[in-house]
Amino acid sequence: MPLDPKTALDALRKVMDPELHRDLVSLGMVKDVAVEGDAVRLKVELTTPACPLKDTIGRDVKAALEGVGFRRVELSWGAQVRSAPGVSQAQLTPGVKNIILVGAGKGGVGKSTVAVNVAAGLARTGAKVGILDADIYGPSIPILTGVTERPTSKDGHRLDPLTAHGMKVMSIGFLIDPDQALIWRGPMVTGALIQLLRDVNWGDLDYLVLDLPPGTGDIPLTLAQNIRAAGVVLVSTPQDLALADVIRAKLMFDKVSIPVLGLVENMSAFVCPHCRTETAIFDKGGARAAADKMGIRFLGDVPIDLAIREGGDKGVPIVVGQPDSPQAAALLAVARNVAGAVSTQILKAPRLPVIGAQSRA
Ligand code: ADP
Repeated sequence: MPLDPKTALDALRKVMDPELHRDLVSLGMVKDVAVEGDAVRLKVELTTPACPLKDTIGRDVKAALEGVGFRRVELSWGAQVRSAPGVSQAQLTPGVKNIILVGAGKGGVGKSTVAVNVAAGLARTGAKVGILDADIYGPSIPILTGVTERPTSKDGHRLDPLTAHGMKVMSIGFLIDPDQALIWRGPMVTGALIQLLRDVNWGDLDYLVLDLPPGTGDIPLTLAQNIRAAGVVLVSTPQDLALADVIRAKLMFDKVSIPVLGLVENMSAFVCPHCRTETAIFDKGGARAAADKMGIRFLGDVPIDLAIREGGDKGVPIVVGQPDSPQAAALLAVARNVAGAVSTQILKAPRLPVIGAQSRA
């Protein structure tokens, strides 16, 4: 077989992206192939810098190229986050490639903690990330990210988000008094949310993580009518009660055609920092079983842990404050799996007609 770029590309046509189940060439991930003697140089452009399977892809690429006779393989990496066709034009937020919703069936399961750590984790991989706190009845992103100042507007039209831990941050809590929000009626709540999407200067983002209020209600429906979210990440504790709520939430997202990216088990077993014994305070493994039953992806489990809670209270997400800890590793794995699920979802998404926002508040 001649050692030329065609041979290299033909070999790479047999390498499948393990997440996307398509070959790297037809996915457009192989770039800049150059051959010199028995050496081949190429770049693999991942669909997200947070790709959970980069090592596997690297191994498979090398094996395929060596299999057709190349002796030296110089592989470099790039990443270009994609969005589903037509999405950016359809959004209230034109520069945002993917909006990732984070929801839960009920409050207090750690939805906001997971949202912040996923967002900060994605930012650590090099992605451009924003986080929008839409938990109108209990906005906690300002505390969890440590930003409390009020946003301002440079152009007098749109608010500039604040920045923390490498991400853009905006919270409904910056703008309204949560005690007042409790008495807001549905249309006021959804109007405020649309404003936070449309009237905030988000700029170009790979991922905008949107922390939803818990439970079911007007907001998911409003979002479904106004934006094309990449999908929703559901968070639950392993307890039966919380899981029953998350199953209800899943059905509601199905009804409004928002894809469910998967389920995270938060407050999974407690690992004693002294003796490493595991105690399943809220039980363990329930979310994985529920995810299997619902036919959705299990995105990982996160232990119940003092450092996670303390990081939240201090405004430094643990993936930033203690990135090398096992707890941060668990949350970073969730972030990578979420990015993988978004990439998969984009490939599955039908080509959309370009539509404008359906309602403007
Ligand atoms: P939700 O958004 O679901 O209401 P939060 O993220 O605000 O939940 O979390 C509720 C409380 O639980 C917070 O005090 C938070 O620090 C704590 N918490 C969340 N996840 C964990 C965890 N894995 N380990 C320990 N504490 C956690």
